[in-house]
Amino acid sequence: MHAAVLNRYKEPLNIEDLEIDKPKRGEIKIRPIAAGVCHSDLYVLEGATPIPPPVVPGHEAVAEVVEVGEGVSGLAPGDMVATSFIWPCGECVYCITGRENLCERFAAARMKGTLLDGTTRLRRRDGAPVRIFLGGLWAEEAVVPASGVNKIDEARPEYAVLGCAYMTAYGAVVNAAQVTPGARVAVIGTGGVGMAVIDVAKALGAEVIAVGRNKEKLEVAKKTGARHIVSALDGDVVKAVKELTDGRGPEVVIEAVGVDETVDQAVEMVAPGGKVVLVGLAPVGHKTPIHLARAVRGGVTIIGSYGARPRIDFKALYGMVKRGLINPSRIVNKYYKLDEINEAVEALRSGRALRPIILFR
Ligand SMILES: [Zn+2]
Ligand SMILES: [Zn+2]
Repeated sequence: MHAAVLNRYKEPLNIEDLEIDKPKRGEIKIRPIAAGVCHSDLYVLEGATPIPPPVVPGHEAVAEVVEVGEGVSGLAPGDMVATSFIWPCGECVYCITGRENLCERFAAARMKGTLLDGTTRLRRRDGAPVRIFLGGLWAEEAVVPASGVNKIDEARPEYAVLGCAYMTAYGAVVNAAQVTPGARVAVIGTGGVGMAVIDVAKALGAEVIAVGRNKEKLEVAKKTGARHIVSALDGDVVKAVKELTDGRGPEVVIEAVGVDETVDQAVEMVAPGGKVVLVGLAPVGHKTPIHLARAVRGGVTIIGSYGARPRIDFKALYGMVKRGLINPSRIVNKYYKLDEINEAVEALRSGRALRPIILFR
């Protein structure tokens, strides 16, 4: 089976013919139909998220189940699934206390580039193992833990973005910020995650302000449901957002970029007593300065948010899609074949595509 393999950081991916083992206990083998290209994958390609090569990236997809490992119930070959990039072990302290997105065994496997048991099912003809980044879904086949997928009734390509962009948005808006109807929510960043945040927050009845630097993306943000848009190219965004919120600031600011400047803006613009939710990822080890006195005297709650719970939240999210409350197709406008993977990566990096999708058939 063919897969896009990163052999050295900062170099193009190669399409290689790899061997794939059978799924072990609790795992399934899937055949992706469509897979998203996300900024977290770019961090792997650059070495900012240092998964040792060779590694197959790709961590959100819709796929068909082709084989089911021992102990897997509720899934059979032929089922259509949407993947999540988090695979709860079901047994650790986080899993049994309802916070499976923080699963300890998953967190340990994540940076090793393996499945939950610390090994990978991919290898070269000579037997050398090939790692995966949260699924290894830029491939014709993949083995993933069954706990990280959910059955869906139709495998539309745009549903690929539910697994990362929308699950991240759901976790930020619903679980972390606990957005209520009428709340004013500023979203900094208009990439795939930022757009999904706007979509979910609007669906919950929030008044959304989108902040970004790309005019076209800000227009998409408006169509997605942002009531106001603020261009970072037109001056002081903190002042502009405060002016739109009685001078006080929004009750919730969701930061979906992950750089010092926008984290600072989030802390400065949030209303006293408000919440800043951080979902934008930075390179591992990066630290950011914040305005401490403002955070303290303003009683600001700063929350880091990582994904959402695949076995609990995905069902709610998918229900919102089926009822027409949110629409993932808005952030998907460019499709590529697997052998065009480097073009897809470049389209994301340059901002030409919001969320490139690899189509496998
Ligand atoms: Zn992602
Ligand atoms: Zn766990």
